[in-house]
Formats: sequence, structure tokens, C-alpha cells
Amino acid sequence: MPIDIRQFACLSDNYGYLVHDRVTGATAAIDTPDAGAINRELEAAGWKLTHILNTHHHWDHAGGNLALKETWGCEIVGPKGEAAKIPGLDRPVGEGAEIMLGASKATVHETPGHTLGHIIYHFADDRAAFVGDTIFAMGCGRLFEGTAEQMWSSLSMISALPADTKLYCAHEYTKANAAFALSVDPQNIDLKKRSAEVETLRAKNIPTVPTTVALERATNPFLRAADPSLQAAINMEGAKPVDVFAETRRLKDNF
Ligand code: ZN
Ligand code: FE
Repeated sequence: MPIDIRQFACLSDNYGYLVHDRVTGATAAIDTPDAGAINRELEAAGWKLTHILNTHHHWDHAGGNLALKETWGCEIVGPKGEAAKIPGLDRPVGEGAEIMLGASKATVHETPGHTLGHIIYHFADDRAAFVGDTIFAMGCGRLFEGTAEQMWSSLSMISALPADTKLYCAHEYTKANAAFALSVDPQNIDLKKRSAEVETLRAKNIPTVPTTVALERATNPFLRAADPSLQAAINMEGAKPVDVFAETRRLKDNF
């Protein structure tokens, strides 16, 4: 069913999102980076918070849970793999769980790597996925808890979603990600074009998020580990994609 999405910048580089089911008025905050900012957006939209959908336990994603629950009495849904770390969690969920936001449905997918329990929320009918810190525009989350194998598998799942799916990432890291992407994928025409567009947008302080699955397949080095030209650029011709991914992530950590 149709949803409206309200996106707002908060903290230093986070994006907050409100998802509103038009049929019933049910409204979810995707993560709770800043309870004050979320309340201001709810008020501006005239929406009442009914749900919190957490992607993972980091403070800039679940730090506003308790304050919002106290104000709204909303139901908190979050990853069962890190249930003990999600403040106020009511409903721990894992792979394949279906969340009804009023008449709109989200399917949960587990995407371990950044954290071990990380999940994403896929509103398939609406071609929208809230991906937390798993994938960013031309980037991916740091491997704080999981392995390269886990993250590669998580990113491969996202890459296999329908091409027109919009990916709502939790941070505006795009400009820095583009600079790194160009360093490992310098021959990529789509990447060069996108990097120039990102420069223009960021100079005007315009968000580069959401992105799409199609755009990430074409320009995100962390999805392109099987690409011969990227492999050649980092001296890993013919290597297994998971190993190319691991090396690309290591290079980014030191960029
Ligand atoms: Zn995080
Ligand atoms: Fe984060």
C-alpha cells in the first residue's frame, strides 16, 4: 500500500526517516538518531508515531528509543540478534519477518557485517528499503562486528533486490565514498559521472540519498568485487569476489 516517506538530516551526518501509511495513518521512525528532531518532523507532518523500526544497536540508531516510547507509547521492533542492546524493544525480529505498518508491509532481512544482528526493512510493494549502516551511496558500513564474508553476503542480497528499489541509507557519506570509489575503480564511466553530480549536489547541501539498487550496482565498489577492471586496479585479477571485497574494505579503512 502507498507510503509517504519524510527524510531529514540530524546529528552530524545521519538521516532520519518517517514512514507513513496513507491508509491507516500508522507512522514509523526508521531508527531514532535524535528524538527531538523526530518529534519536530512528526509535528510538521501532523503524524503520530506508532512504531520504531531499529536496524541495529548503535546509539545513533537506537539512542532516541526510550524518549520516543515514553511520549508516544509506540511499538519498538528491532533485531533479535542484538535484542539485549536495543532500548525498550517490544518485538525482536529476524530473517523473513513481516511487519505491518497499518496496511503497508515490510519484510525483514538480516544483513550481518557492520554489527552481527543488523537488519534492514524492505517495503517491496513500495520499492523502498531502509538499509541502516549496511550499504551507503558508493560505500558500505565498517566491519565492526562481522566478517568480510558476512558483509559480502549481505551486500549481495541487497544488490539482488529489484533494480528500481530505492535504498534509504542512514548517513550522508557520499562525497567521501566517491573519492575512495574513484581510487579503486578509475575507469568506471558511470562512477565518474556520478561523482561529478555528487560534487554539485553537496556544494548546495542537497542530499544524495536515497540511492537505487541500479545506481549502486553500477558505481559502488563494494558491489563490484567481481568486476575485472576493479580487480585489476587493486592487483587482484581473477580473485574470488569475497576476497576482493575484503581487500577493498581494508583499503577504504586506510584511505
Ligand atoms: Zn552503525
Ligand atoms: Fe550509524
